[in-house]
Amino acid sequence: MDYTIESYNALVERLLALSVAYYDNDAPLVSDFEYDRMNNELKAMEAAHPDWIRPDSPTQHVGGHVSEAFAPVAHEVPLESLQDVFSFEEVAGFVERMDASLDASHDYVAEPKIDGLSVAVEYRNGIFYRGATRGNGEVGEDVTENLRTIRSLPKTIQNAPERLIVRGEVYMSHETFRTINARRELEGQPLLANPRNAAAGSLRQQDPAICAQRMLDVIFFNIQLAEGAAYREHYETLEAMAAMGFPVVAHTLCRTPSECTAAIDAIGEGREGYPFDIDGAVIKLNDLSQRQTLGSTAKYPRWAVAYKYPPEKKPSRVLDIVIQVGRTGVLTPKAVIEPIRLAGTTVTNATLHNQDFIEKLGVNVGDTVLVQKAGEIIPEVLEVVKKDSEGSFRFPAVCPACGAPVVRDEDGAAIRCTGAECPAQRLRTIVHFASKDAMDIDGLGPAVVEALDRAGLIKTPAELYYLEPQSVAAVERMGKKSAENLIANLEQSKDRGLARLLCAFGIRQVGAKAAKVLARHFATLDELMAATEEQLTAIDDVGAVTARSLTDWFASEQSQDLIRRLREAGVSFESREEIADDRFAGKTFVLTGALERFTRAQAEEIIERFGGKASGSVSKKTSYVLAGANPGSKLTKAEALGVPIITEADFVELIKD
Ligand code: NAD
Repeated sequence: MDYTIESYNALVERLLALSVAYYDNDAPLVSDFEYDRMNNELKAMEAAHPDWIRPDSPTQHVGGHVSEAFAPVAHEVPLESLQDVFSFEEVAGFVERMDASLDASHDYVAEPKIDGLSVAVEYRNGIFYRGATRGNGEVGEDVTENLRTIRSLPKTIQNAPERLIVRGEVYMSHETFRTINARRELEGQPLLANPRNAAAGSLRQQDPAICAQRMLDVIFFNIQLAEGAAYREHYETLEAMAAMGFPVVAHTLCRTPSECTAAIDAIGEGREGYPFDIDGAVIKLNDLSQRQTLGSTAKYPRWAVAYKYPPEKKPSRVLDIVIQVGRTGVLTPKAVIEPIRLAGTTVTNATLHNQDFIEKLGVNVGDTVLVQKAGEIIPEVLEVVKKDSEGSFRFPAVCPACGAPVVRDEDGAAIRCTGAECPAQRLRTIVHFASKDAMDIDGLGPAVVEALDRAGLIKTPAELYYLEPQSVAAVERMGKKSAENLIANLEQSKDRGLARLLCAFGIRQVGAKAAKVLARHFATLDELMAATEEQLTAIDDVGAVTARSLTDWFASEQSQDLIRRLREAGVSFESREEIADDRFAGKTFVLTGALERFTRAQAEEIIERFGGKASGSVSKKTSYVLAGANPGSKLTKAEALGVPIITEADFVELIKD
């Protein structure tokens, strides 16, 4: 292959930029697979042109920097990276190198390679002392307080050496990842991209309380340093760590090259069984003194390799395309496929992302598609490999869960259900009802709403007001005290007033601001419900779309039902806002002469506040001429046209409460 120095430099720059996004910002710009592909190309270039190798090339140092936001920790034993291999031939090549370099017999340990964030954790006299990220391998970031929040990290250990530094991987379990994302979806927050970046981003939070909420875990795979203890073999150190109470990575002793590849296969087959993502298997020399002999390059130990599993792809036929409605009302298409075995599991469904993706692929029921399951949890359709159908699948015009019309988001590819009572959206409606801007019900966050829903206690927001303390107390994670508090908070919220209630209904176009405007014009919900679209649009700041949205919402049977149940529960429908006084609506005033109590601007402001208009010239349409001292020609004109003339004292009477 012909390479140029320019293309080499460009690739180094590109990989460095990708590494900053991945390691420092925890927000990768390309998939690991793509990164590895480019990195391999770089290695090939460097093998062909060793004289080009730049000292800052990603092949020459461990990725990642040390952020100034954390105190630096110098690693007594460097935290190295691993050399990647992608085929069994390369594994065999590694074993051959070991055979050639070592006289004595040797065996290996195979372990899953956890896709998380590397940390070194120090214990002094059996007590957790400090922990740091890998950083650049030599110096890491002090994340002791964040590590302290991890429940699976032992804070004290049994029969510990005086000083012990262990290396492990911090990760976010699949279950936690799903739970957090489900919650974030309900709260309308952006979703965490994948467990690896979620773990890295969480461990590098400034506030340990935020890290604690992310419920991270840790698992260990190496003893870096043990003062007062001596070990001969790696396998032995893993067993010793387990005996001390550390969660330790699964480990298999392999005596021959074929045992190594069999172990790699077994780890790959079993990957679904782990609570974390794995991105490979590591083969390590077992004997610690032999490791010493072999040493390391600038970046990797010579005595280990990481076998990276290729993302598995297989063809399958699309049997059906079904639409799922998420908690935020987004419709997601899913291909139901003929079952295939992928990455150790039977796959029967694969995501099709959205309507745009379907159109791009031109996929429909009956086609044969290529399905991939990489590190991601959800398999995806990659492309159509055999087209046996007509055209591409079309989204339904109505929500499959509730039959309400669907709309495309103004700013994206998402198609959303508009049904207020859509079962798929129910939870979100209730969470919104209880939120700060709306009814502000303390203790009724997404987790509690979910729990109440699972217990079958609430279907609509109105049912919140009919909850019984005993049944709430029986709900998971609640208990007597929190149930009583919740009922008391619900009781209090009944009196929040019209503006908050309107906002809580979640009517399209009616957010907190519009709700306030409406509550300033209508004394009660019943008055608002009786208003026509024309009356609504006559209000400043209420446009035709909002007016239509309101009347449509009030007209629906579900809304009527909700309002009735809320009324029966004793929720206040009265406005707490200062009701707008429009006593001068439709009236035009002309001012002439000097007023004693107001400047002209003040008087005009008062007229406008009461819904009237101030004009500069008198006509037949003028309602009043307000005349002060030394009036001008406007007074004469008013007299001639028969326009009523009022004094300042009359004006004061008119604006009185
Ligand atoms: P690495 O992650 O491939 O391997 C080294 C790491 O493996 C160590 O830090 C260690 O913590 C971890 N590990 C997990 N289980 C282990 C075990 N049982 N034994 C030993 N180590 C174990 O190496 P790296 O240099 O940190 O990063 C390269 C990886 O990062 C590649 O997978 C690459 O795809 C990815 N990356 C991706 C991007 C991107 O933009 N997507 C950018 C840079 C790097």
